Amino acid sequence: MNIALLDVDFTDVLLIIIALLLVVIVAYIVSNGWLYTRSRRRTENLEDKPAKIITVISCKNNDYTIEREFQEGDFIGKVADKCPKCGAEMIISKIYTIPLESGQKPYKQSSR
Ligand SMILES: [Zn+2]
Repeated sequence: MNIALLDVDFTDVLLIIIALLLVVIVAYIVSNGWLYTRSRRRTENLEDKPAKIITVISCKNNDYTIEREFQEGDFIGKVADKCPKCGAEMIISKIYTIPLESGQKPYKQSSR
């Protein structure tokens, strides 16, 4: 009788553990899904913000650097125009985005 009662109790405990595990698993999946949606929304918000993509082109001889708006096909290491100072190849050294809200000028020309 006592053994039978113990058996019933053990099964109940197992059921409770399984139920708790299920709750934890469901909670984990739900929270993961929520985080995923949240991070996606955050990215979308970032994309909605006005930003400019700037391409920095530097002369191989480091005597001239130009920054201009990103153009399709730009990539770091790409050979761009000839240097107006020494005639050497100019290579894209940096590509970055700047938010337009910062009040900074979108792009500038500079020479070293
Ligand atoms: Zn140069």
